[in-house]
Amino acid sequence: PFARIADLIALHAQRQPQHPAVVHGEERVDYATLHRRMDQVAVALQRAGIRPGEAIAICAPSSIAYATVFLGALRAGVVVAPLAPSTTPQGLAQMVDNAEARLVFLDATSEIAAGALNPPRIALDGNAAVGQPLADWLAPEGSAPEPAPVEPAAAFNIIYSSGTTGAPKGIVQSHGMRWAHIQRGLQYDYSPQTVTLLSTPLYSNTTLVLFFPTLAFGGTLVLMAKFNAAEYLKLAVRHRVSHTMLVPVQYQRLLALPDFDAHDLSSFRFKFCTSAPFSPVLKADVLKRWPGGLVEFYGMTEGGGSCILDAHEHPDKLHTVGKPTPTSDIRLIDEAGKEVPEGEAGEVVGHSGGMMNGYHRQPEKTREAEWFDPAGKRFIRTGDIGRFDADGFLVLFDRKKDMIISGGFNIYPSDMEGELRQHPAVLESAVVGVPSEAWGETPVAFVVLRPGASVAAAELKDWVNARVGKTQRLSELVLTEELPRSAIGKILKRELRDSWTGKVA
Ligand code: ATP
Ligand code: MG
Repeated sequence: PFARIADLIALHAQRQPQHPAVVHGEERVDYATLHRRMDQVAVALQRAGIRPGEAIAICAPSSIAYATVFLGALRAGVVVAPLAPSTTPQGLAQMVDNAEARLVFLDATSEIAAGALNPPRIALDGNAAVGQPLADWLAPEGSAPEPAPVEPAAAFNIIYSSGTTGAPKGIVQSHGMRWAHIQRGLQYDYSPQTVTLLSTPLYSNTTLVLFFPTLAFGGTLVLMAKFNAAEYLKLAVRHRVSHTMLVPVQYQRLLALPDFDAHDLSSFRFKFCTSAPFSPVLKADVLKRWPGGLVEFYGMTEGGGSCILDAHEHPDKLHTVGKPTPTSDIRLIDEAGKEVPEGEAGEVVGHSGGMMNGYHRQPEKTREAEWFDPAGKRFIRTGDIGRFDADGFLVLFDRKKDMIISGGFNIYPSDMEGELRQHPAVLESAVVGVPSEAWGETPVAFVVLRPGASVAAAELKDWVNARVGKTQRLSELVLTEELPRSAIGKILKRELRDSWTGKVA
């Protein structure tokens, strides 16, 4: 069974025309209106000569207009490349170019970033200084698009990877891959009663894994263009939110609000989390103080299998990212590309029904990301190191690029970060390898203290070094106000390493 998201929305528009589909601030659209506007987008794209399989780019914060254009394009079989507005003009031009986008949808907030773009621009917010106002570009109401047949293997969107470890890669996801995410939603009680609050950006797969299922099941999306913890809680209470996706640092900020526990969050059924290491201490705190289930996803935008931890059902497994989903085949391989013996650590590779077609117009990079088992089955390499415990739960260590090799010994930064977390004054930390004359590389910790806590860097370093093996000891510990993060909240270890350049520990 396979259905197109646009057809499911058409169905809801008939069954529940007045049911709210998307809410943003004081603005809202019901299913009938959303469906009508999607048709106007689809016809306008067809009128502009944009064929199924060709791409458009959207570069703006979340809004109803954004959602409508995204969904309308899908109705016409047009591929969407959602781009990060915070990207540099050069980076943005590269992505627009890589995607071969025929049009760019943006708004006044993205104008500077979009300075050097070639394709015609449409202003989502109607600002004529930015591009042709959306309302002028749309086809008249009541026009019906040519039907666009879509195969499960056809491209759905091109998502640029987070660029955590290097330059972003354009990941081509198919309709079939999206459908797999939608079906996974069956386990999590999506229905027309669902109210999903999304405060992460729409250019990230993190957000889209809830965005499409909510609409596919006829629920309501509440969009937040810019996350703010206090504002998030207000929206959650006001809209009686049932589902949400947050990245770990957002959970951290929410739970740190002095009045967090005073909010009535009893409407929550499932909270999701993905994209970065989620500390077991924080997971336990979420389970204790926030009603409803907590579900962690581990996976990549590239697809190729994922693990799910239903944390509310496995309080003893909070240090893991759960078990492979029924449709995922996850293996662990060594440096030579051989599967490691049971119980040992290795690079995580995954296969599933929902795998990327490849990196857009980067066949070389696509090949590097693939691994084939002896039977010829295709897997995607994650670059993450993990180990299965005796019960089949995956324990993740670090990204391969973040592993430290010091004097011939492997050091897992995540082990050291776990130790540091045991100190009552420590809020969070990041351990990175820096050049060392004696050891080749040596670990240095960057530590953020809890508000109001105080401890000297040297004292904390001695404390942690007394708890770890001799070969793991930190050379330096730096107290800092904040760790550098990407827009989706991932700690940028390469920036920490760069900040060290020139120094030798
Ligand atoms: P790039 O590939 O450009 O460096 P990225 O890998 O961060 O960026 P994504 O596809 O958004 O881009 O993220 C996938 C990665 O995020 C995984 O490989 C893993 O390192 C990390 N990740 C995802 N989910 C989890 C999780 N639950 N726990 C820990 N890490 C996670
Ligand atoms: Mg990646």
